[in-house]
Order: sequence, then structure tokens, then C-alpha cells
Amino acid sequence: MNLNDALEAINRVRGIIESHNRWRRSETINLIPSENVMSPLAEYFYLNDMMGRYAEGTIGNRYYQGVKYVDDIEAYLVELMSRLFNSRFTDVRPISGTIANMAVYLTLARGGKVAAVPRQCGGHISHDEVGAPGALGLKIIHLPCDEENFNVDVDAAAKVIREEKPQLVILGASLYLFPHPVRELAQVAHEVGSYLMHDSAHVLGLIAGNQFPNSLKEGADVMTSSTHKTFPGPQGGVIFTNDEGIFKNVQRAVFPQLTSNYHLHRYASTAITAIEMMTFGESYAYQVRLNAKRLAEELSKSGIPVVAEARGFTETHQVVFDASKFGGGAKVAQLLEEGGVIVNKNMLPWDRSAIKPSGIRMGVQEMTRVGMGVQEMVEIAGFIKSMLIDGKEPRVLRDKVKEFRSHYTEVKYGFKLEDAGIKCDCLPLLH
Ligand SMILES: *Cc1c(COP(=O)(O)O)cnc(C)c1O
Repeated sequence: MNLNDALEAINRVRGIIESHNRWRRSETINLIPSENVMSPLAEYFYLNDMMGRYAEGTIGNRYYQGVKYVDDIEAYLVELMSRLFNSRFTDVRPISGTIANMAVYLTLARGGKVAAVPRQCGGHISHDEVGAPGALGLKIIHLPCDEENFNVDVDAAAKVIREEKPQLVILGASLYLFPHPVRELAQVAHEVGSYLMHDSAHVLGLIAGNQFPNSLKEGADVMTSSTHKTFPGPQGGVIFTNDEGIFKNVQRAVFPQLTSNYHLHRYASTAITAIEMMTFGESYAYQVRLNAKRLAEELSKSGIPVVAEARGFTETHQVVFDASKFGGGAKVAQLLEEGGVIVNKNMLPWDRSAIKPSGIRMGVQEMTRVGMGVQEMVEIAGFIKSMLIDGKEPRVLRDKVKEFRSHYTEVKYGFKLEDAGIKCDCLPLLH
């Protein structure tokens, strides 16, 4: 490529990224429940030399040279995460929640059978036939769904576990409004010699802030998670357990079986995020729950069929409604995006096809982080009502949404560079 062409190509890259950042950071209301934004300080530390390094193996026992500081940061991150989540053993090397889950499957259910929450009941693809367990050749049986309560049917699930004796019971979900019955089903699992894993990907930040049960305390043998949903760190995965035997085997599954590089540069930012959660986690998680409840109430008041009304709508960051009468999940998600409100389409428990999901799933964690409170939830509900109930054109709403969002661009419940005594204008693309 000659230099002129290269410059043109570079500008194209720059244009795309700058547009994306502007759009998602300052012009749209982001309600995807599996996403978040890091603090400026965490973002500052994300760009570091470890992004190009290797450290196969475990702390103090690596296959590479040049890793003394990698060992230091990984050990410190393990210490912080173990403290925050009360675990005796923590593996921070999985590069995603899916990899963390696979490591547990290889450890506790290799070649065997797992029982999991089906996708229409909120289960994640990494608990499903079409995802990781299927790819590993595991047999999958489904835990029965309590459609009315948006949860697992405890009695029916206990029966399935007793009859089928799966090696591993998987709880936790992607559409997750109320805590799963970890305590009850861990007991049943242990009775028949099975293990129970809770996947906390969506709720890790709420656990950190004491607003959701810590499944290890409830009797889960292992807790897996992503590190970037309600826990607002960089994308990554983590595994917690109090069982040394399980931990040793999980470590072997993470490396050499599933990964070779661990995306080492994210450790520093994950550590900063853990420190932030230790400092601001409680007020953040509390506000997230308050906001979710308020958004659900306001939407419901305006005639939008929010699910689980009888149970108070939600006890997490999520709010879910049935979009059937507005043309279905896919159509509504597209329409709201045109109006500057970014949400997920999602299956609901009574859906039979993943191709035409009837639900809309939202999460308030990211907007809470940029400083929105219950009053702002009322405004967001108003934007959604305008488009779905009053039939206002999304194009008309877009400018109002943009103006509204432009007042909330600073991340709260986290540290700025100045807080750490760092003076530089080094995140120009992001802030
Ligand atoms: C998001 C999610 C995961 C894994 O996500 P990754 O993108 O692989 O980090 C796992 N389990 C549940 C329940 C999830 O919602």
C-alpha cells in the first residue's frame, strides 16, 4: 500500500471507531444487560505492554520468561477477587465466561451429563446443546422452568436431578430476574453425588455490592462469571471455588486445555475494577436495583407488559417485557435502536422458537454507572412509551434521546485519573 492509501485506510478505521464511541458513549441510552463501561482509571490501565505477552502456566510456574510482573499482577488480582467474593481459590485466567464454564465442565462433567436451565427460561448458550456443553459432547438435560415466577421449578428440578443424577447441575442465567434456588438444589445435587455450579455472569457486580446472594455461600461448589456485565471490568472470565481439588483440575482445564494466552493486559483493569467495587460497590449495586424496579414500574404503568409483576418485576439489574403486541422482540429492538435506545431481543419462557423471540430484555447497570437515578428511569420509560404506545416516529425521538444522554457521560462509582494522581489527556477517544 502506498502512503496515501494507507492514510486513507487509517482514516477509515478512525472514522468507524470515533463514530461508534460517540454513538454508544454520548448519544444513546444503553440498556443491554450484559454490557457496561469501565471507569477512566480502569481504561487507562487497559492499554499496557502485557497485551503482547505470554505467561502460559500458573503463577510462579510459567512456560515463558519475562513474566515476573505478570505474576505480581495476577497474584494481586487473585487476592482482590478472592477477598471481594469470599472464595478460597480463584482463577482469573479464563478469557471469557464461556471459557470459564467450559473449564468447569471439563473438570466436573467430562464425558458425562449436565442439567441446565433451558434457554427460553433464561439459560445462556454456554449451558446449552447448541453451545459449549454440546461441543464438548456432554449430554444435556433440562431443569424445568417455573414460567410464572421466572425461575427454576425447585420441586420439579429436584426430581429431575434425583432421577437423572447428572455429574453437574448448572444454575444462573442470562435472563435473570430473581435468584435461582442454589441452596435447595445444591443439597439435592450433593445427595446424589453431583456438583452444582452457579454462573454469576450477569450478577457478579450485584454480588460484589451485597445485593444478590453469593452462591458459594449458598452451597455452590463452583461459581463462574464474566467480568464485564454488572461487574464493570474489561471483558474476561473468572472461576471461584472453596474446594482445592476442584481448583487444581480447573487450573489444568484453563491451561493447557482451553487457552494459551490469557489476554494479560486486562488484569490491571480488572484489579482496578475490583478495588472500585470494594469502595463503591454497595452504593452502585443498590442504585442499580432501585433503578431497575423503577423502570419496570414506570413501563408497566404506561401499558407495556413488563413480566413478573406479581413478584415485583425484578431483583436484579434486568427488566423484561413481552413485546408480542408490538410486533415481537426483533421488531421492537430494531425500532428502539432507531430511536436511540439500545436493548436486546430475548426469548421468554413460553417461546418455542429462538428465531422469533417475543421478549425485550433490558439492564440499567450501565446507565446507573453514568449517574442516572430513578428520575432518569422515568424519562427513559417515557421515551419507550412514546415509541411503543403513542406511536411516535423513532426518528423524532432520536434527537431528544441524544440531548438527554449528553448530560450523562461521566462514569460514577469508579476512579478518574486525577483520583490516582495521573495527569494526562490520554483517553481522547473515550472521554
Ligand atoms: C454472558 C454470559 C456468559 C458468558 O459470556 P462471555 O461472553 O463468554 O464472557 C456465561 N453465562 C451467562 C449466564 C451469561 O449471561
